[in-house]
Amino acid sequence: MGDLISLVVPFYNEAATIQRFADAILPVLDAVPDTAWEIVCVDDGSTDGTLLKLVALAQADTRFRVLEFSRNFGKEAALTAGIDAARGAAVIPIDADLQDPPALIADMVAAWRKGAEVVLARRTDRTTDGMLKRKTAAWFYQLHNKLSKTHIPENVGDFRLMDRIVVDALKQLPERQRFMKGLFAWVGFRTVTLDYTRAARAAGESKFSGFALWNFALEGFTSFSTVPLKIWTYMGILSAAFTILYAVYMIIRTVVFGNEVPGYASLFVAVLFFGSAQLISIGLLGEYIGRIYMETKQRPTYLIRKTYGALNGAQRLSGDGGS
Ligand code: UDP
Ligand code: MG
Repeated sequence: MGDLISLVVPFYNEAATIQRFADAILPVLDAVPDTAWEIVCVDDGSTDGTLLKLVALAQADTRFRVLEFSRNFGKEAALTAGIDAARGAAVIPIDADLQDPPALIADMVAAWRKGAEVVLARRTDRTTDGMLKRKTAAWFYQLHNKLSKTHIPENVGDFRLMDRIVVDALKQLPERQRFMKGLFAWVGFRTVTLDYTRAARAAGESKFSGFALWNFALEGFTSFSTVPLKIWTYMGILSAAFTILYAVYMIIRTVVFGNEVPGYASLFVAVLFFGSAQLISIGLLGEYIGRIYMETKQRPTYLIRKTYGALNGAQRLSGDGGS
């Protein structure tokens, strides 16, 4: 019956939300005409019984497939795994906590059937997210889009619909450290945007603390822009020019007024300034070199312990199929 569309859902310690997620999502999927569904659930190394609940779902309903990671690899890896495993003509990544409204799925599918290759869902109102998170997110997008040629649309999360052609393009990107928002934007394709209001989490807590978000932002900058590296060349040229001017001034002053008490202060300030500039730039270099190091290791983005349900075409149930 019609097209197969895949939902890709990352789960990390979401035992409290799974039943609610299934109850909310299934009626929505049933209401979309001419469509068959698979729901690729990725258990990202949960420690709270999430896996058992997912497997139970897969046993009760063959549309659910479950990938079990060997440990927690992070949301980006979970999304990558789900997208790799998805077999649908279109793929929709969606959070497990119902912050991405399932009701939008029908509209996304409709837009896709009208010819869109990517259907973005844009949050028009993030008041459920807290002032600090909103502000820092806005700064991140502004700065990122100034620095990088890859424009990441603001207030658009991972919740979107992608045609098979886009998914296959994504799968061609070989990098191991996957900043999905950036990769999604990088591949391009014909895009349509839908607006929605972001809801509060259905249950449980956000898995992203302030520091995790900071690292995430850094990952975004350094994955898609080399400006932070190049900027130091110009800073260096500028401060060198300034130093030469200052030296000339010192010489003239000495010639005109004679040699007064040698200035401790100016020396100290100069040493401190250049010291800190060097530390910052070394730190930045370290960021990129670290990334090069990680990439050259060619480690896989994720490891799967077991798959449940009919993933990858194997029509098996209840976890007798490794992958
Ligand atoms: N998630 C994951 N691995 C992680 C952290 C989060 O798979 O290491 C999943 C989580 O289960 C949820 C989604 O990513 O389905 C979004 O997480 P969360 O709601 O905590 O993020 P927020 O909405 O606060 O950005
Ligand atoms: Mg959330």
